[in-house]
Amino acid sequence: MSKKIVIVGGGPAGTIVANLLTKKLKKEEASVTVIDKTGRHVYEPGLLYVTLSDQDPKGIVKDEKDILNKKVRLIVDEATKIDTKRKMVEMKSGNRFDYDYLIIATGARLCPEEVPGLKEAAYHFYTVDEALKLKDALEKFDKGKIVIGVGGVPYKCPPAPAEIACFLDYKLRKRKTRDKVEIHYLSPLPRIFPIESVDPIVNKIFEKEGIKYTTFFNVESVDPKRKEVHSLEGETIGYDLLILIPPHRGSKVIEDSGLGDRGGWVPTDRYTLKVKGYDDVYAIGDATDLPISKSGAAAHYEAKVVANNIASEIKGIESRDKYNGKVVCLCDAGNKAIYMIILQSPLVPDGSIVC
Ligand SMILES: Cc1cc2nc3c(=O)[nH]c(=O)nc-3n(C[C@H](O)[C@H](O)[C@H](O)COP(=O)(O)OP(=O)(O)OC[C@H]3O[C@@H](n4cnc5c(N)ncnc54)[C@H](O)[C@@H]3O)c2cc1C
Repeated sequence: MSKKIVIVGGGPAGTIVANLLTKKLKKEEASVTVIDKTGRHVYEPGLLYVTLSDQDPKGIVKDEKDILNKKVRLIVDEATKIDTKRKMVEMKSGNRFDYDYLIIATGARLCPEEVPGLKEAAYHFYTVDEALKLKDALEKFDKGKIVIGVGGVPYKCPPAPAEIACFLDYKLRKRKTRDKVEIHYLSPLPRIFPIESVDPIVNKIFEKEGIKYTTFFNVESVDPKRKEVHSLEGETIGYDLLILIPPHRGSKVIEDSGLGDRGGWVPTDRYTLKVKGYDDVYAIGDATDLPISKSGAAAHYEAKVVANNIASEIKGIESRDKYNGKVVCLCDAGNKAIYMIILQSPLVPDGSIVC
């Protein structure tokens, strides 16, 4: 009998795994359904260029149905509960979908309200609307201090905050206003860049271009009146314009279904990508609790493993494809870029081997 594969989330993770599964499986073998609450697919790496270049936001947002294989059924609705006992996903509309295999690809949600003052005071570039607001503010800004940081860890695309600091430096130099603008970067870690082995390269760029930084700065609150950011470590930094990536959590449906950890991330086996304790439920992309970069690249490599293993199981072929922690990452600093291939490994000090 044809198996029902239900995928919750139509970001890179859900879209890639759905398209791979429909290629590998015949209609008689399985039906593939993607549930997405917006029906729109945002190419998030393009947000940097919406903010600092002339990228038209329309160019980075597509209708999900246009990028899914025609054989995939798309449901535009919000999943409100995942019931793993009854093998069923409940929807906001009241509809329900039962499954033989479930793939959780619900990504991360932004929670600016978790840092007092952040919502009122800070800009960011993690959604199209916010990227456009920041673009406008930066175009009007010609002197003063820009502070850049993150409101908490983990967050998507770990290089993005340092990347925008370097890219902004480059843009201000082109605009010939760099000498009137101070850029100050706040890192929650003991170094600038999250990946230890790449940090010396980014450090060199910061030193050369005069980008100031403070390490071990874990943001606690923002005072919009005094224009100050406070850290858990007891430091205070003033700003004229603040760019602060909001804290991230897993999707609400994960919390509401009792499937997440304290941050709403899904406990996931690092090799099989099965949700811990389940044989028929998988998690991929930003939704997992895996200690790797929350990135489209990781989602892509994970989707391949899950599609191979589910398709093989349905066909009765033995397959033990394993995820090896691979992530590919590009950090664009304006007039220079760093390309990283990262293999997360428990054998090295910061957990990653960079080629
Ligand atoms: C500024 C920026 C730059 C980036 N640059 C890079 C880069 O250069 N390289 C890279 O690899 N990555 C980059 N990333 C990260 C990358 O975009 C994300 O890691 C990637 O989108 C994760 O894919 P995902 O499918 O797991 O989650 P998402 O893209 O977040 O997709 C999740 C989907 O699930 C849907 N959903 C959530 N909850 C529900 C629900 N209850 N019911 C129905 N649908 C639901 C959402 O609507 C969404 O469509 C960047 C991110 C940002 C913000």
